[in-house]
Amino acid sequence: MELEQLWQSILGEMEVQISRANFATWLKNSRLIDKKDGTFYIGLPNNFAKEWIENKYQKNLLGIIRNFDSSAKNLKFVVVSSNPKTATKKDLAQDLMSFENRISLDFKIDPETNLNPRYTLDSFIVGPSNELAYAGASSIVKELGLKYNPFFVYSGVGLGKTHLIQAIGNAVGAQYPGKFRPRYVSSEKFTSDIVWGIRNKRMEDIKKKYRDVDVLIIDDIQFIGGKEKTEEEFFHTFNALYEGNKQIIISSDRPPQAIPTLEERLRSRFGGGLIVDIGYPEYEVRVAIIKSKLQGLNRDLNQVVIELIANRIKKNIRELEGVLNKILFYQERKGVDITEKIAQEIIEKSAQNLSRRVSDAQIIKAVSEFYNISTENILGRSRKKQVVEPRQIVAFLLRDILEMSYPYIGEKLGRDHTTAIHAYDKINQEINKNSSLNQKIILIRDMIYKD
Ligand code: ADP
Ligand code: MG
Repeated sequence: MELEQLWQSILGEMEVQISRANFATWLKNSRLIDKKDGTFYIGLPNNFAKEWIENKYQKNLLGIIRNFDSSAKNLKFVVVSSNPKTATKKDLAQDLMSFENRISLDFKIDPETNLNPRYTLDSFIVGPSNELAYAGASSIVKELGLKYNPFFVYSGVGLGKTHLIQAIGNAVGAQYPGKFRPRYVSSEKFTSDIVWGIRNKRMEDIKKKYRDVDVLIIDDIQFIGGKEKTEEEFFHTFNALYEGNKQIIISSDRPPQAIPTLEERLRSRFGGGLIVDIGYPEYEVRVAIIKSKLQGLNRDLNQVVIELIANRIKKNIRELEGVLNKILFYQERKGVDITEKIAQEIIEKSAQNLSRRVSDAQIIKAVSEFYNISTENILGRSRKKQVVEPRQIVAFLLRDILEMSYPYIGEKLGRDHTTAIHAYDKINQEINKNSSLNQKIILIRDMIYKD
């Protein structure tokens, strides 16, 4: 029997024995590379699948293989990256990425201010959902440090916080060249600078770096909360700037009172300025954003296609831009006119948008299947290590995919909202550092969408 044919028969058996979701996740992209002297060499797409099959399905698999070939004695698993089935997909993804890099033009981040010139007040489309935030931002530029201090803006992901707060910095630079010095920093960077300063006994340099500015812009402040030294230093920086009438601008994914770990004294300081939120963009705003992007790129799309995109992606402008990029990429690559039907298909394929069809139960079920831990255990009271991670991932995915509120997630997990916030933050930060966790989450997402 041919290797390929033999492997298909083996997989057919295997599929009957393990759950469909598990099968699809772990074995779908596998192949039989070779068999020699009783050893079967099996190719798998990544390390994680290799580990998982070795630990969980090895025996099962060997048993089945023996039914087909009694000479089989042992199995060897090999990671093969160039699986022809996935290679083309990967190439495409890479091409898309370089396309996106290309169209984001050659905006260079200014090392002095750390600002990206791409974000301007002019390119920020205004509508009812964000007009207060926009008005606040514009008036700050006119009365730096005097009117609204601090300026605190919050919203869900992809709704324009980073764009708006950087735009203030850029406007200051453009209106008063050389006079006022803005500086933008993410709260992660701020934290790591402080840790570095302490470790290397260079705190004085760090203090100078952040206090020697006229406009300090700190993005995603929710990540600072709870880190004592950082918060302490931030508080002192805040006071030093505030007392010198320097402008402070802060963004967060939630209002100050909902950052549980934030010290009370900081929270009340924030209350002394202007706090505004950005809501979901209205239909007209979404259309205008698409049109303005097209204009900037010197590209064009049919009005029906523009309306289709605006109708389908409502809650995240970054996602809206992502889909638009995919469509433009397709247009360029194939050299065809984008019809409504083609656009529909591209939107459909865009994995993120599948979120609409997913239920919370599906998410919990996928995590439970992935870890082989019952739903009751995940939602139960146990604090054992092996249930904590799955539970945190459930919280993370409920928020990330369904945009559930923290109190609601807390309710789902039988806990309060601060636990939900903590779980979300934990995973959200870990993903960037821990590639094995990241891979697990990618696989869980696959399982969610496959069902
Ligand atoms: P957040 O920081 O809230 O997650 P971003 O500021 O990164 O969101 O915005 C995501 C993307 O959407 C960026 O590319 C940004 O330029 C764009 N964007 C957001 N709001 C607007 C708007 N009102 N007008 C134009 N583009 C916007
Ligand atoms: Mg941001």
